[in-house]
Amino acid sequence: MGSLFEKEKAVMSKKYHTVVIGGGCLGAACSFSIRRKLGNKAEKVAIVEKKVLGAGLSSRHSAIVRSANASPMAARMAKIATQYWKNLQPIWGVDIPFEQSGAIWIAESHSGKSSKNWMDLEQAMQKEGIDFTMISHQDVTELTRNAVKIVPEEIYYYEPDVLQLDSPQILNAMQTAAQKNNIDILEHCEVFDFEQDTRNDITALHTSQGKILTKHVVNAAGGWSSELFAGIGLRIPVALEPVYAANFLVSVNDIPESMPIIADYVNQAYFRRWRGSILHMHQPRRRNAKDIARSFSRAAMNPDGANVIYDALSFNVNHQQLDNYLGKIISRFPRIGKPVYAGGYHSFFDITPDLKFILGSDTRVSNLYHCLGAGQALKYAPIFGEIIAELIVEKRMPADSIDIEEFSIARFADKDLSEYWRSDSLQPSAL
Ligand SMILES: Cc1cc2nc3c(=O)[nH]c(=O)nc-3n(C[C@H](O)[C@H](O)[C@H](O)COP(=O)(O)OP(=O)(O)OC[C@H]3O[C@@H](n4cnc5c(N)ncnc54)[C@H](O)[C@@H]3O)c2cc1C
Repeated sequence: MGSLFEKEKAVMSKKYHTVVIGGGCLGAACSFSIRRKLGNKAEKVAIVEKKVLGAGLSSRHSAIVRSANASPMAARMAKIATQYWKNLQPIWGVDIPFEQSGAIWIAESHSGKSSKNWMDLEQAMQKEGIDFTMISHQDVTELTRNAVKIVPEEIYYYEPDVLQLDSPQILNAMQTAAQKNNIDILEHCEVFDFEQDTRNDITALHTSQGKILTKHVVNAAGGWSSELFAGIGLRIPVALEPVYAANFLVSVNDIPESMPIIADYVNQAYFRRWRGSILHMHQPRRRNAKDIARSFSRAAMNPDGANVIYDALSFNVNHQQLDNYLGKIISRFPRIGKPVYAGGYHSFFDITPDLKFILGSDTRVSNLYHCLGAGQALKYAPIFGEIIAELIVEKRMPADSIDIEEFSIARFADKDLSEYWRSDSLQPSAL
């Protein structure tokens, strides 16, 4: 066992081709794709993670991979990412088991605006070649084996290509892939400052294990990004929206294991089956401009910043929250009665002002690249990794059909963020 001093010296003596800050699913994916694209070159890639690999939001999600999205470009990327997840070996060097459960979306039909939004979404998705179609009440009964309550005023859409993964298997794959791809994983290593040259490029990171030299930096620090880069004058607008997730024990006679994911926009809940007898649920991100503004206003009142995610108190839900979720379950799955609570936790969506990712080169620091998920990004991890690797290693924008301009950090430059929330430009049905 080397001493901390020896470890620091070892880190300091290395110069990396790329250092990825943050060992979540996005940071890991970037490191694997970058290292693979470097081919035989001896250059090294590191992930610097202040806790352990996958400790952040990447171990507190529902592991659902779906494509329907209010942004056709995001949907296009998700469609490609779905194919990557199904055959991860060529890009990560490992495979992950998946179930193609499909997903049923539930929305209200009585509001004309709402159903028009859903119809527009259906059309936009079909244009992208994504199978997302309205289905009949009878179809819902058959797909869910009569487990789901059907309401005449509701409309239902089906996306058959949706995958369910398993969170521990994803974490396991990240660890194995890191070894296979020869990534230096520096865990318990917190970045707290940067050294820059006269052109503004980052030349070194100051970390809790000493100084690390690098040619390129990927920011995959998720909800921590704002605070991390504030010191060098970069504004990364990310806030945390609290959400809680809960698991319940249910019988296969009440809810079949094969049930598609239920994205219930009437009750504001996602439901999925985990293997065994678990029904897992949580609320979706809020799409309402005012709610997003509120999340950003709270950032100033949270002295712990994103570290609130690591608070031990996050690993429970209170009675009121539990009752709220039980109510949603009982109203959607009438056969089940009152299910047995099997554990829950608080988590946080790392949202941006317009709920879109921040992806691509920084506008002021030319060797810095952002890869932030806006609360919805496990599903995009393999394609985001490829995109960032193309930018850094191949020095080119992604292939023709993908245009990431919509997700550039440039969109926030010199902008008063409240502009996003004053006009209700966000689509209420945005997925
Ligand atoms: C309840 C819930 C359910 C979800 N379900 C889904 C889903 O089904 N499908 C889907 O696609 N997405 C889902 N998401 C979203 C998904 O979890 C996130 O988008 C994704 O995990 C973000 O990954 P990340 O790598 O960007 O961030 P993180 O996993 O949070 O990683 C960031 C890492 O950076 C590290 N770090 C921060 N600061 C520093 C520093 N200064 N130095 C070193 N390291 C640092 C942190 O410790 C952390 O490990 C869900 C989110 C929630 C909250």
